[in-house]
Amino acid sequence: MDKHQVADKLREMAQMLELKDENPYKVIAYRKAADSLELSEESLSCLIEENKLADLPGIGEALKEKIEILYRTGTHPALEKLKKEIVPGLIELMELQGLGAKKVRLLHEGLGINSKEELKAACEKGQVSKLAHFGEKMEHNLLEALSHHAKWKERRLYGEIQPVARAIQERLMSVPGVSHVDIVGSIRRFAETPADIDILASGPSRELIEAFTSMESVETTLAKGKFKASIKHRLGIQVDLRVTGDDTYPFNLIYFTGSKEHNIQLRNRAKKMGMKLSEWGLTQDDDELIAENEEEVYKLLGLSYITPELREGLGEIESAESNHLPQLIRETDIRGVFHVHTTASDGKNTLEQMAEFAAQLGWEYLGISDHSKSSVQAGGLSEERLFEQMEAIDRYNESKNKKIHLFKGVECDIMKDGSLDYERAVLEKLDFTIVSIHRFFTLSKEEQTKRLIKAIENPYTTMVGHLTGRLLLRRDAYPLNVKKVIDAAADNGKIIELNASPDRLDMDWRHWHYAKEKGVLASINPDAHSKEGLLHYAQGVSMARKGWLQAEDVLNTHPLAKVKKLLKSIQSGP
Ligand SMILES: [Zn+2]
Ligand SMILES: [Zn+2]
Repeated sequence: MDKHQVADKLREMAQMLELKDENPYKVIAYRKAADSLELSEESLSCLIEENKLADLPGIGEALKEKIEILYRTGTHPALEKLKKEIVPGLIELMELQGLGAKKVRLLHEGLGINSKEELKAACEKGQVSKLAHFGEKMEHNLLEALSHHAKWKERRLYGEIQPVARAIQERLMSVPGVSHVDIVGSIRRFAETPADIDILASGPSRELIEAFTSMESVETTLAKGKFKASIKHRLGIQVDLRVTGDDTYPFNLIYFTGSKEHNIQLRNRAKKMGMKLSEWGLTQDDDELIAENEEEVYKLLGLSYITPELREGLGEIESAESNHLPQLIRETDIRGVFHVHTTASDGKNTLEQMAEFAAQLGWEYLGISDHSKSSVQAGGLSEERLFEQMEAIDRYNESKNKKIHLFKGVECDIMKDGSLDYERAVLEKLDFTIVSIHRFFTLSKEEQTKRLIKAIENPYTTMVGHLTGRLLLRRDAYPLNVKKVIDAAADNGKIIELNASPDRLDMDWRHWHYAKEKGVLASINPDAHSKEGLLHYAQGVSMARKGWLQAEDVLNTHPLAKVKKLLKSIQSGP
């Protein structure tokens, strides 16, 4: 087991202890040990061989012993014992939004509920609302959480599934005689939460199918034909492989990349031009037209090349026809990022470590923004501590060892009434202010929209953080009139963040086209809580591309001098 697998086991144990109503300090200790392990720079084998486990914060003798046994055997007697004591369905119930260990215990003890199915039935019968500490609203929310869970369970975050797809692709590339292997389907289009992995290949089909179905990560083989196979991956997702010939490859590639809407529009276009398009080829008067690659297929259809992430049937074909597709932003256009947390609030690395890592990425600037005072849970900064951080940043910027320019900022909570968490005397000293909603998600759509617009109208607001508060596959966006908020940002000359944290990707790519038309500038922000978190920017770029953004539409593609000027001009009003 590697350290991540061991950390997962420790977290599983913490969850079971919590369900058993064990001492909360013990529960916290397990979780801390798991974090500590994952944050360590060294591999687990190294930590054990050199007897350095107990040097990690939060790992005492007892946990050290557990980690060593988990590492060696993949389990631990204490874990096995817990597993026997706890109904497995109760652990699954804890995955539901709004259900912690305490509530799961109440449901179990009060109504004998042991599974999601039983919970659903009890909610439908109105039994849950009658239970103490629950009520009708909670019952309604639980039913909603259950239906979400069923839907979300089938999907995975792009950031989780893409590396898996990539590993399969690489494995198949190593088969002798293979000519192409591509990840297709929604992953190729950068979908935020793909449901499965689709792979297309050309080459020796028997060897490819054999290599595919005998991968170590295969849990079961679902189907195995001459040119097609499906497996269930141990992550619980389905992976499909199709093998085709080189001559049909480009047509297959387009067909299996989709989307459905894009494919329909392409076929209709072919038809109008007197041709017939399918996954097997393009024909005109019974003549097979030949294409070496996707570019040539699009060319035969009178279109410039459409990059996969744009293939959603949202106007890309019309733009390709008139050669007006945008010159999309690239990862290398990024010159720095904003929305970065440090150990001053809930980040895991210090200001200096974040600066050092950003400098290594070749960036020119970094915008520091820890939490504001109302985010008590996240260690939000009092005015005094914020001033101290501002001084530390000034010192860094003036020091000889400076490697990057640091901007002074904050992620400022938006209060329930739309006002900001600090007074003007504080905000005016900062280079930028990100305003975010972290509480009161249940306001009505009108109230929430009004609240955000009021925050945007505050003269010290630079940009809006994670606009809708969604957590992909975990929490829906709060009700919000996004279009109205974009209009307000446009009217006030404010920036909207594209939060690149893999479970946020907020504002959604579907809204960027409109925001761009209104002249709203985007900022691709990693919302980094550690130095590795800075790397989230890359997926933010993917989402920006999917939203048709060009480099010039994004604040942090501009050079330092221009960014300084832009930030100043926003603070002095439209
Ligand atoms: Zn936030
Ligand atoms: Zn944040």
